[in-house]
Amino acid sequence: MGFRGLSWALQSRASGYGWPESRGRLTTASYDGQVTDTPKRVLLAKPRGYCAGVDRAVQTVEEALKLYGPPIYVRKEIVHNRHVVATLQAKGAVFVEENEEVPEGSIVVFSAHGVAPEVHEQARARSLKAIDATCPLVTKVHQEARRFAAADYDILLIGHEGHEEVIGTTGEAPANIQLVDGPDAVDKVTVRDPSKVVWLSQTTLSVDETLETVDRLKRKLPLLVSPPSDDICYATSNRQDAVKTIAPSCDVVIVVGSQNSSNSQRLREVAVDAGARAAYLVDYASEIRDEWLEGASTVGLTSGASVPDELVMEVLDLLTERGFGEVAEVSTADEKLTFSLPQELKRDMKAAKATRAGEAAALAAHPLS
Ligand code: SF4
Repeated sequence: MGFRGLSWALQSRASGYGWPESRGRLTTASYDGQVTDTPKRVLLAKPRGYCAGVDRAVQTVEEALKLYGPPIYVRKEIVHNRHVVATLQAKGAVFVEENEEVPEGSIVVFSAHGVAPEVHEQARARSLKAIDATCPLVTKVHQEARRFAAADYDILLIGHEGHEEVIGTTGEAPANIQLVDGPDAVDKVTVRDPSKVVWLSQTTLSVDETLETVDRLKRKLPLLVSPPSDDICYATSNRQDAVKTIAPSCDVVIVVGSQNSSNSQRLREVAVDAGARAAYLVDYASEIRDEWLEGASTVGLTSGASVPDELVMEVLDLLTERGFGEVAEVSTADEKLTFSLPQELKRDMKAAKATRAGEAAALAAHPLS
């Protein structure tokens, strides 16, 4: 079986991952129009795993724990991944659902998914020190919502009902925002003035399904305005593109990610839509069932944007044990984006560093002995 009816070359190893021998033979796949199939192989999608927003959010909690010491309260899961949450819990993070569970005067971190303005107000009312780890790409959607609401537009927010990001964005302009949960929800949309309507979206949706929803909206509302730039973020679309590339060649695609992770769920759906015979979402390698691999010769592997790569490596270990020794990493994009830590945390880190430097200088000037 070849990629989209074509075939691919397995080239010599070219990876910056420091690939352990025990993890099978890693090669990098690139299209050259002419190749043979390898029995029992893994096609490893790249990009996969951590995005810039998740990396920043996790680092925010880690740095806060180091700087202020535990407990650090985190409102909602910092990112939607069981392993990440459990790891931070073990280091002293305390996850809560609402600000009222946080003792007055404590430190609270808001998750990468963003919060409504009222959540900031609640924190102020409880004298909490809030550190906002909202992904800057989610903040961008909040800003768009505020801007269009200020111009009194009806805002059609394409997203999944109940998702934290949708709740946070809606909180920016509840009177102007109406949720459109997929193409079939378009029929129910009603607006005040069809010449003053804009659509925005959650950052982690299926690119294809969102295009379909927008198409249907535009048929209903020809003057519908589009957001100034894509709301579905680079990490979501890059991971979906990589899966679309490998899925037609895969008997099975394993997506590492948690059930409540929107972008991970979308990867599983995209894999099936793109031609994989089956796709499964797992948190850990131990959840993979032998029957999923029965009769398979090519297994695709990827992970959601909140998944540390060590979990993907554990899946590769398991696949190697099951005879899938050849690993070809198929790269469709190079990601270099990073985000700096929240200002409020950086300020305190800088102050603590200055204090330490002052103390060291004083000690050098007046040694205790
Ligand atoms: S998936 Fe996109 S929007 Fe969400 S945290 Fe990552 S970069 Fe930000």
